[in-house]
Amino acid sequence: MQEHIEQSLDVLRAAHARHGQKLVYPCSFGGESAVLLELIHRLKLDITVLTLDTGRLPQATYEVIEAVERHYNMRVQVIFPDCHAVESMVAEDGINAFRHSLEARKRCCQVRKVAPLQRALQGYEAWITGRRAEQSDSRATLETVDKDDPVYGRIKYNPLANWSWQQVMDFIRQYQLPHNALLDRHYHSIGCECCTRPVTVGEDPRAGRWWWERDDVASECGLHVTSLSRPLGEGEQGDGI
Ligand code: SF4
Repeated sequence: MQEHIEQSLDVLRAAHARHGQKLVYPCSFGGESAVLLELIHRLKLDITVLTLDTGRLPQATYEVIEAVERHYNMRVQVIFPDCHAVESMVAEDGINAFRHSLEARKRCCQVRKVAPLQRALQGYEAWITGRRAEQSDSRATLETVDKDDPVYGRIKYNPLANWSWQQVMDFIRQYQLPHNALLDRHYHSIGCECCTRPVTVGEDPRAGRWWWERDDVASECGLHVTSLSRPLGEGEQGDGI
C-alpha cells in the first residue's frame, strides 16, 4: 500500500510542478475521490477541485461535498449544466428519457455531464482523474499519465491507476476520511441517483451504472472516452463524474 501511495504522490507532485494553476481535479465524490482529495491535501497543492451537479445527484453526494469542504477547509467549485439545454431536452424527451433509449441516455449524459465538463476545463492544460486499471477491460493498460485525450484535448493524470478497489476502501477506513455514504452500501461507482445502483459480490463494479442497458458498449458516460471512433456516451468511465 505504501508503495502505491508514494507513486500517487509522485504523480500529483509532477503534474502540479508541470501545470501549476492549469491543473484541475474534476471530482465525482466516489471512493477514489476521497483518496485523491486526501493526497492533494497532504502535498498542500493548490489545485482547483470542481464537481458536476447534473441535477440528478444522490443526497449522499451533496452531504459529502459539504463534509469535504469542512474537513479540508476548502470550497468545491460546482458546475451546473446549461439550463436551456436541459429544458429543451426534457421538453422533447421527457423527464426520465434516459430509461427509454440508449440515444436519450447519451443525450442526457452529453447535456448534463460532457458539455459542462468541456466548459469547465477551458483554460486548463491537464486534469486529474480517479480512473484505475482494475475498473474495466478497456482500462487494463491504463497508465498514470494519458496524453491521448481525443474529446477534451488535455493531459489526464491517473494517480490511482494501479490501485485496487480494496486498497481504496482500506485507505479511506485507515485514515477515516470523509466519504460518500453510498460506499458503505456497496456502491462502487457513484453518479446520478437514478442511474446508479449497488453491486453484489463478484459482480462487475461497472454493472452499477445504466444496468438496464446491459450492453458493454454503453457502459461509459462519455467523460473518459478513449477513441473518437466511439461517439460520446460509449466506450470505456472512471471515477465516475
Ligand atoms: S447518468 Fe443518467 S441522469 Fe446522469 S446525466 Fe447520464 S443519463 Fe442523465
